[in-house]
Amino acid sequence: MSDVRHHRIYIIGSGPAGYTAALYTARADLSPYMATGIQPGGQLTTTTDVENYPGFPDGVMGPEMMQLFEKQAVRFGLEVAYKMVEKVDFSAHPFRLWEDDGEEHTADAVIISTGATAKYLGIPGEQEYLGRGVSACATCDGFFFRNQELVVVGGGDTAMEEANFLTKFATKVYVVHRRDTLRASKIMQERALANDKIEFIWNTVVTEVLGDGDKVVGVQLRSNDGEERTLDVGGYFSAIGHKPNTDLFKNVLEMDDVGYLRVKSPSTYTHIDGVFAAGDVADPIYRQAVTAAGMGCAAAIDAERWLEAQE
Ligand code: NAP
Repeated sequence: MSDVRHHRIYIIGSGPAGYTAALYTARADLSPYMATGIQPGGQLTTTTDVENYPGFPDGVMGPEMMQLFEKQAVRFGLEVAYKMVEKVDFSAHPFRLWEDDGEEHTADAVIISTGATAKYLGIPGEQEYLGRGVSACATCDGFFFRNQELVVVGGGDTAMEEANFLTKFATKVYVVHRRDTLRASKIMQERALANDKIEFIWNTVVTEVLGDGDKVVGVQLRSNDGEERTLDVGGYFSAIGHKPNTDLFKNVLEMDDVGYLRVKSPSTYTHIDGVFAAGDVADPIYRQAVTAAGMGCAAAIDAERWLEAQE
């Protein structure tokens, strides 16, 4: 047991929520330790320009922004481990965590900020043109598609919201949905159906994202009765939902039907005292870098006060 390392605060995940929690707990002298997870920096490292994070009037590249987040937290004493957490035991104090190299760590408090992953269809061309016409975030990337025709896939609230938002920039937005009825809430459906820049293509799936080697130039469609056609568009938005990264916490923490961690809103307390959750992993609604960072700050303050109360 002697090589088990103990931490006051163990942070799982390295997006804006994790690094902000780290910054605040480091500045509160709690010597936080972070396991970054498989994608250090999180979802933002898969985007290009970030223009909606306050404080960067000229925008900033997603990967660069996350390096800055890390640098700022490390400056105050964050220890970063580029590792995955493979197993947790939150049934007793101190909490126990096992990393992918077999190391065991214990912690007085844990902040979970493992984020969420946008779902993609998994069709040819999709990953190839990611960031070059393929996106899963209209709020992040819509601005780059001014005066273009675009396609959005999905029939839920996210798809309606993305399609509506994209009409601010695009000349036309096609919503391709695999059925003839929408899953989205009534109000979101009505808004999308009333938007004359949106055209619905029902009972149809996208089978391929077409590119010219540099960027997206169209999509290949197949209707449910087998009819194939090509649609010329400059961008393809996957809006078929997000998957919160919570597999590790199944049967450990309370989650909603989709798998988002439940917190005692407006705090970041989970149902286990001393375990806090922040960012997209606990937020099915806003999912922005700035809201994740805000929640990371809240988790740090919640954890700090909780630790103080234990003493
Ligand atoms: P969702 O409700 O699960 O909808 C996903 C949509 O994508 C469905 O229409 C589904 O089709 C389609 N889809 C899934 N897999 C597909 C595939 N492989 N091929 C083709 N289509 C596929 O996800 P969401 O829209 O992201 O919403 C998630 C939650 O967040 C919901 O509770 C929603 O209300 C909430 N939300 C709220 C807001 C808001 O209130 N402003 C905004 C966004 C999201 P089927 O319908 O055929 O299953």
